[in-house]
Amino acid sequence: IEAVKVEGLSYSYSDGTKALEGIDLTIYKGEKVVVVGPNGAGKTTFFLHLNGTIKNPAGNITVFGRSISEMRIEERIHEVGVVFQDPDDQLFMPTVFDDVAFGPVNMGLEENEVKKRVIKALLKVGLEGFETKVPHNLSYGQKKRLALAAVLSMEPKVLVLDEPTANLDPKSRADFISLINELNERDGITTIIAMHDVNALPELANRVYVLNRRIVAEGSPRKIFSDW
Ligand code: ADP
Ligand code: ADP
Repeated sequence: IEAVKVEGLSYSYSDGTKALEGIDLTIYKGEKVVVVGPNGAGKTTFFLHLNGTIKNPAGNITVFGRSISEMRIEERIHEVGVVFQDPDDQLFMPTVFDDVAFGPVNMGLEENEVKKRVIKALLKVGLEGFETKVPHNLSYGQKKRLALAAVLSMEPKVLVLDEPTANLDPKSRADFISLINELNERDGITTIIAMHDVNALPELANRVYVLNRRIVAEGSPRKIFSDW
């Protein structure tokens, strides 16, 4: 089953910077895919397409067979959840509860279901009991987990993470990697991760795309790692 299919995707910013050129790729349901590429390779631009921030793309993007641009926002956030690198870009509510509830509330779920989803998502990321805390005051690692919980509460089929391990200490990094693997292996969520650190490839990928404005290579983590 094709989870994400991208055909002929190109994008230039208004100042003329070509960020993506002729991207073709297919990610299958349940896969754990890493997109590697240096800074400026277009990873973030690609993800902004996947969550619909960049509208009317030059090219086709379908998720489970449906075009992203034809989905209503409430549908799209249930298909694809994107966790950006800097959690401060994503956390803007007064309490932890409100940040995790934001998506489900916007999906129009009733109060009881919203509560259930918040509790489940916080438990998943190890922030149970943090409901009334102020997001701004959490540690960086806790904020990263909260930003993930705020996406998991929408129960996305595809989870996209931009540099999930950047700036984490070794223990938080290892915990975050196990958490992502658990979401993929136990909960069946298709995961797409952007990284520039090739050392974490074997832990987080069963397939790798190398992006540098175009897709320049594709293969198993071992193949990509040895060619790097
Ligand atoms: P990218 O180009 O990989 O998307 P960014 O432009 O978001 O990266 O960030 C550039 C660098 O700034 C990152 O490699 C990271 O080391 C650092 N950085 C970003 N956000 C934070 C943060 N909240 N705390 C500390 N460092 C950060
Ligand atoms: P990555 O996430 O891999 O670091 P980005 O998608 O952030 O790459 O950037 C791809 C290219 O687009 C880079 O050359 C970057 O400088 C450029 N870029 C990113 N955002 C903008 C913007 N808002 N306006 C103009 N150029 C941009």
